Amino acid sequence: MEIEPRSHQKPEPVLVEIEPGFTIPDFMLAEVQIKLAYADEHIRSASVQPELIRLQVEAEASQPELIEKVQRIVESLAKGAIRPKTQILEDYMDRPVPYKADPMPELIRLAEISQESPGVFALGPLVTRLAGYFESQFLALADSFQAAPYRFPTLIPARYLERVNYFRSFPHSLTFATHLRSDLDVIDRFSQEAACAGGELTASPDSFAAVQNLLSPAVCYHLYFALADKPLPQGQVIATAVGHCFRYEAINLTSLERLWDFTMREVIFVGSKDFVLENRETARQRMREAFERIGLAYRVENANDPFFIGEFRKQAAFQSAFQLKFEIRVSLPFNQSTLAVGSYNYHQDFFGRSLNITLPDGSPAHTGCVAFGLERIAFAFLAQFGLDPSGWPAEVRQAAA
Ligand code: AMP
Ligand code: ZN
Repeated sequence: MEIEPRSHQKPEPVLVEIEPGFTIPDFMLAEVQIKLAYADEHIRSASVQPELIRLQVEAEASQPELIEKVQRIVESLAKGAIRPKTQILEDYMDRPVPYKADPMPELIRLAEISQESPGVFALGPLVTRLAGYFESQFLALADSFQAAPYRFPTLIPARYLERVNYFRSFPHSLTFATHLRSDLDVIDRFSQEAACAGGELTASPDSFAAVQNLLSPAVCYHLYFALADKPLPQGQVIATAVGHCFRYEAINLTSLERLWDFTMREVIFVGSKDFVLENRETARQRMREAFERIGLAYRVENANDPFFIGEFRKQAAFQSAFQLKFEIRVSLPFNQSTLAVGSYNYHQDFFGRSLNITLPDGSPAHTGCVAFGLERIAFAFLAQFGLDPSGWPAEVRQAAA
């Protein structure tokens, strides 16, 4: 049987310009840009200005359909959007840092990173040691709370994610795990016919079993499920774990900044509202000292999770109003932007209610977590201090060079 390679040689893209018909507010530009990645498979790249959207699109695309989807995204995210109140808890953006260049070309030239596919990178010794240094700082934070260590699987059952409404909130970034159907004919056929064309496996879709598991998008969910449907031991838990997390970010997967497969260390608090909020605040103060020791330039500000279009407005406004999420945004001098390397989160009693985790008085437990992306913080550090360890702060040099 001949299987048609779908994307072996993609045709040259064409430029499509779309006027949104209203001005996209500046505070929504980045969100619109990110979400356009999910508008249509033929979009190769997008650039968003307040009055103009420019897309590079594969020539074979049906333009009326594509434009309609783009307009739909832009309208539902940005039309009449209300500027969120910015809340800055820490601002150390003006700390002087020695490096100004984009570390990516140098990392590739020195074979310190190698890209396996979009958003999937192998890290060499320099970046690995640096990630190890930051991991030791996060472990010290976990130890300061005497957090109990956990190891969680990389797979997460679909029924878990369903129970916490994940499919409604973040469908665009899911990664599914499947396997061949346990059928001799299917397995025989696959073993003879499977091949890769243009990076894609050319097997018939009906060879694959129904999806029971996905690749986990976060670490702390596993703890909440381990605690589900029973009273919380001693009324409170502090735990820590590191794990691979997966979020598909389509054409935005261009550098070490945004990965499909990345590593997250979390410290997780479960208990009463005050217990969670006080510990979240203590964690932030302790990390402030750790970042000060190495002179990192960053700020901590309110943020929202990357909800998909239909849920975005309501959920983002809710997170903002109740101060549920703060991000550590590290300065990237090479393009005057910032990159979130970690977050301080409070989920109220959402998981306690959804998963029936109860406090001694019978009420649902509150939860919160502090979460750090190890590849991102290593990348952001390199963007500020460069690849030559002689320019690094002594503490990092001694631990990681
Ligand atoms: P979040 O749960 O979205 O606050 O994520 C926690 C941290 O994980 C972020 O602050 C990042 O450092 C990291 N992270 C999230 N998504 C990605 C990604 N696609 N690539 C690399 N790191 C990520
Ligand atoms: Zn978490």
